[in-house]
Amino acid sequence: MSHHPETRAVRPPVVAPVEGQPVSVPIHQNATFAFDGPADVAAAMAGPDGAFAYSGYTNPTVRALELAMADLEDGAAALATASGMAAMNSVLRGLLRHGDHVIAQRQLFGGTVGALADLAGRWGVEVTYVGTDDPAELRAALRPESRVLVLETIANPTGHVPDLPGLLAAAREAGLVSIVDNTFATPLLCRPIEHGADVVVHSATKYLGGHHDVVGGIAAFADRERYVAAWNQAVTLGTVADPFGAWLVLRGLKTLPLRVRRQCDNALTLARRLVGHPAVAAVHQPGLPDHPSHARAGRLLAGYGGIVAVDLAGGSAAVEKFLGALRLVLNAGSLGGTETVVSHPATTSHRHLDPEARRAAGVGPGLVRFAFGLEHPDDLVADVEQALSVAAG
Ligand SMILES: *Cc1c(COP(=O)(O)O)cnc(C)c1O
Repeated sequence: MSHHPETRAVRPPVVAPVEGQPVSVPIHQNATFAFDGPADVAAAMAGPDGAFAYSGYTNPTVRALELAMADLEDGAAALATASGMAAMNSVLRGLLRHGDHVIAQRQLFGGTVGALADLAGRWGVEVTYVGTDDPAELRAALRPESRVLVLETIANPTGHVPDLPGLLAAAREAGLVSIVDNTFATPLLCRPIEHGADVVVHSATKYLGGHHDVVGGIAAFADRERYVAAWNQAVTLGTVADPFGAWLVLRGLKTLPLRVRRQCDNALTLARRLVGHPAVAAVHQPGLPDHPSHARAGRLLAGYGGIVAVDLAGGSAAVEKFLGALRLVLNAGSLGGTETVVSHPATTSHRHLDPEARRAAGVGPGLVRFAFGLEHPDDLVADVEQALSVAAG
């Protein structure tokens, strides 16, 4: 039976499955999957582990990224989402109920602080912020309804590294589920599940994607139960990753080890160069011997990260001149790609904090934060030094 052209246009011959294995994961740019009968569709839609049914649930390209990240983070499963915030919110909502208590690191990404404030104000979840150098602070904050601990491997912008093994052991002892945001370390520098974390969250927008061209997120789970709870939230919120975004992150992963190594090298080179510069009051990089987290970072991390924060001697007046004078380094809010970027945390990432919380996060008016890319270090040094002379002039 020959169909009409209208039908043939929408039902072309199906391409037979290829025999060779594609070396690069294909982009399955497809929303829904067809089966032989309704029972197969129903079975596929029953949960995250059935056949692919709908790309709002998961998709072969998205699943490839999830498998890659579960493997890199030593997890049992992973969930790829539309952004880092989508990953964090899916995890938090999958774990928390009304009346639960959260203990969180004092220096936390602003978006996460905002998400916790929203859960507190609208959903009755209480939050206590603690210092993360001594597990006794965590123990002192415990309540019968404490349920979740939230940490970051390397805090933005000061490079503070929490006592992960001590805190995660204390959390486990108290029956808390621990979430570690590993965005700044990447699984190349640290795998928090090895230290006892239950859930690892990433903004894939940053180093995993690595090219400033995609917004995405990942959560990796030590156990499947919490993965399914977070997946249900991502489906409910509609924040599962799309195939093209997932593909860009997968592509980024292939060069992650090379990029992270170069970014760590560039950060340390620039940090060492800026120490003692007359226009610089302080340099914050965990690779510097006098950084408060230096020894711990050396034990826990396979590199000191690509971030350097610098207090300019001239305060906020110098900041404006300095940022305006940079030619190679870009003024940009996000980070983690191939280009070196700089930001002014007090007026961007940390603007919502009250002055006391900003001080606690180490963010003064004269602080600028670099996230190093892949440029030649000599070109970066030249650009930063010429801008410092403009700022001092
Ligand atoms: C950027 C960032 C996030 C949020 O990720 P998005 O992809 O922007 O939603 C979460 N945590 C950290 C540490 C980040 O830097």
